[in-house]
Amino acid sequence: MKRVFNFGAGPAMLPTSVMEKARDEFLNFKDLGAGLIEISHRSKEFDAVINRTDELFRELSGLPDNFKILYVHGGAQMQFSAIPMNLIGRNPAHKAAYLETGNFASLARKEASRYGNITVAATSEATNFDRIPDFNPASLDADTSYVHLTSNNTIFGTRWNQFPDTGDIPLVADMTSELLSRQLDYNKFGAIFAGLQKNLGPAGMALVLMREDLLGNALPYTPSLLDYSVYEKSHSLQNTNNTFAIYMMCLVLEWLKEQGGVAAIEAINEKKAALLYEAIDSTDFYIGSAHKADRSVMNVTFNIADPELSAAFLSEADKLGLYALKGHRLVGGIRASIYNAMPIEGCAALVEFMKDFERRNG
Ligand SMILES: *Cc1c(COP(=O)(O)O)cnc(C)c1O
Repeated sequence: MKRVFNFGAGPAMLPTSVMEKARDEFLNFKDLGAGLIEISHRSKEFDAVINRTDELFRELSGLPDNFKILYVHGGAQMQFSAIPMNLIGRNPAHKAAYLETGNFASLARKEASRYGNITVAATSEATNFDRIPDFNPASLDADTSYVHLTSNNTIFGTRWNQFPDTGDIPLVADMTSELLSRQLDYNKFGAIFAGLQKNLGPAGMALVLMREDLLGNALPYTPSLLDYSVYEKSHSLQNTNNTFAIYMMCLVLEWLKEQGGVAAIEAINEKKAALLYEAIDSTDFYIGSAHKADRSVMNVTFNIADPELSAAFLSEADKLGLYALKGHRLVGGIRASIYNAMPIEGCAALVEFMKDFERRNG
């Protein structure tokens, strides 16, 4: 069987060795005579898996000790509700500020507006989110409960290269499409969340990193299973959690450690992105969608100058095993999602195809 280079934005490709390990252990986990997903979330076998996942995440990320690791149901967008429910009550005014850099940021802002007074503190909507907007943290009211941003904008192909300093107001980041792709100073944040399905594992669950002192502020009507304190107190096992997703994440983290960790993968990720951006910038045939200074290293968005050629580009690419390159409908054109699991060979193969396609159609 030939595995494709999967450029899909998410759920996204996982390392082949991770998929093979999961396959090999599927029927018989650690000689138990049963698969891991068939046994209790309170078994000693699963306990070892979740503890190892915590340990690997801390080791790889350098997460400070005052952050709690939570495995929360419902993927990233469930946290669009959980974040305001857990944090907006920090101040009686129930205010939060959102930095609008794309579709997911807007969805998060709209969901939060059900729970308090939400302001858009900066937006790049006027230019179809092709850049990261200027933002002055001094413009925030002191009683703002938190500031929310999307660190990497999966659809538009931009990212925050530098994070704003919001002082005493906790900065909350949706890092779904880039967590563990680059080194990070976690101390700049109050909370970080990420759906697993881009860089960490399968869909349907989010990793939430919560600064300990921010726990305990949930609004009174917060459902128990959206209250981060409940996850913290039960090691994310208040009810039956998604044991398979946590196990897959554990395998992904073991793989990342084998690659040399976050610094090593960051260097590879930068090389991968540079290959593609160089191919785009070296010709007028392709046009990058995002402002150069704000380009994402995970989602490379571009158009063909003659958009009529896009359909042929996508179908020829697909035949070569360059899968799922179609851009999101809000941007159009082409998007290459090149998360940690995408090998540099995938980017090289795409560049080769881009050059060949241009020769034949330019
Ligand atoms: C993919 C993505 C989401 C959506 O996550 P779900 O798990 O489908 O809710 C949210 N935010 C960002 C930045 C994403 O890339």
